Amino acid sequence: MKILVINCGSSSLKYQLFDMKDESVLCKGLVERIAINGSKLTHKVGDKKLVVEEDMKDHTEAIKHVFNALLDEKYGVVKSLDEIGAIGHRVLHGGDTLTKSTIIDDHVKAKVEEFIKFGPLHNPANLMGIRACEKLVPGKKNVAVFDTAFHQTMPAKTYMYAIPYEYYEDYRIRKFGFHGTSHRYVTLRTGQLLGRNDLNIITVHLGNGSSISAIKEGKCFDTSMGLTPLEGLLMGTRSGDIDPTVMNFLMSEKGYTPEEVNQIFNKKSGVLGVSGLSSDFRDLEEAADNGNERARLALDMFITRVRKYIGGYMAELGHVDVISFAGGIGENSATIRKAVLENMEEYGIVIDDSRNDTREESVISADNSRIKVLVVPTNEELMIARDTLELTK
Ligand code: AMP
Repeated sequence: MKILVINCGSSSLKYQLFDMKDESVLCKGLVERIAINGSKLTHKVGDKKLVVEEDMKDHTEAIKHVFNALLDEKYGVVKSLDEIGAIGHRVLHGGDTLTKSTIIDDHVKAKVEEFIKFGPLHNPANLMGIRACEKLVPGKKNVAVFDTAFHQTMPAKTYMYAIPYEYYEDYRIRKFGFHGTSHRYVTLRTGQLLGRNDLNIITVHLGNGSSISAIKEGKCFDTSMGLTPLEGLLMGTRSGDIDPTVMNFLMSEKGYTPEEVNQIFNKKSGVLGVSGLSSDFRDLEEAADNGNERARLALDMFITRVRKYIGGYMAELGHVDVISFAGGIGENSATIRKAVLENMEEYGIVIDDSRNDTREESVISADNSRIKVLVVPTNEELMIARDTLELTK
């Protein structure tokens, strides 16, 4: 069966078509600037590339262009859309009612809509993608795979916030966690590589958005993102953990609205805010190497926060078998991986520098390291395709 995986952002859309016979990727692509002047679709089949530059006024038009690309005479990969068995959608927030991947019906859409309150940027876009597919290929099964689902095994003692209990009862204010599909893939793959599915793992997803999870016997026990993706690690443009009073202070001092403060902490903070330079870690590493002190500070703060969470999760789990790195930074930056785990010999972690010089799936710890350290390139799209196949075959 062929499965189309769609990941809709507010003005962008990523897709991949899988042949589930061997889980190969037949094509992948990206639509940018949806509903903004200058929309652009880039469709890749192996080394070949089709680019379409034409204004697309909404997600329905963007998906129409995706289907055209899939059917294109020269760059297409199917003869008819009937060849696509089902469509899997990445959905950000499933709350605590949509706790696993599910076939989309009216009830599921209503729940995704309800959780727009905690995922105001992503859930509306995810819904637009779902509705566009329902309209363009009626009758085709659509499956939702939630970023929050994997974290639903967390116990109340790690997901509750210490605020009056009624806010949890009335509004479901609690930690949900995100990047769940990535943490799930990395947990599964780490287990496969080491031949066990009951491992205690710290999964470290470091990318433009970063999060870290404590996995107890293969299940999520704690994670760093919260009610929204803002909590936890310092990120490209998000502050991560902070005293909430800072928000109150800025609102009263500068007259910002709640929405403006939200924008500042989500879009203008993190390593971008501290460095004043960039949210891209390659730029920051280069600038820091050339003596830029704020870039160095931003990187040091990022590294310190990751170490703090790793230490905290080691204490929470009691025993850790593996630490697995994923995400654009976790997979590509040997320097950051080393800085995150150096001087932890006392805790049973020893990195082998030559093994660490890699971007491939591999063990990077030394043979005498009690805790194994792995690089596990994540694959959220494959996870979505597998769930879609499982639910629809
Ligand atoms: P992601 O959100 O997972 O796609 O990751 C994006 C982040 O990965 C960006 O901040 C990139 O700067 C970072 N990244 C990608 N390659 C490297 C690299 N070789 N060294 C450091 N950071 C990298």
